[in-house]
Amino acid sequence: MDIVKGEALCMECQSLYNVMKNEGKCPCCGSQEKKVLGGQQFIVKDIGY
Ligand SMILES: [Zn+2]
Repeated sequence: MDIVKGEALCMECQSLYNVMKNEGKCPCCGSQEKKVLGGQQFIVKDIGY
């Protein structure tokens, strides 16, 4: 499977980033206000990939 996991849209600056790679914070402005895209797999943390 090639699903995009944990993509989020920053509510502050509207940039799209990966929540996993950026520890839940926007790399552009540091905000944690975001809308998570890419499904609910993000909730499962022990995914083991
Ligand atoms: Zn931002």
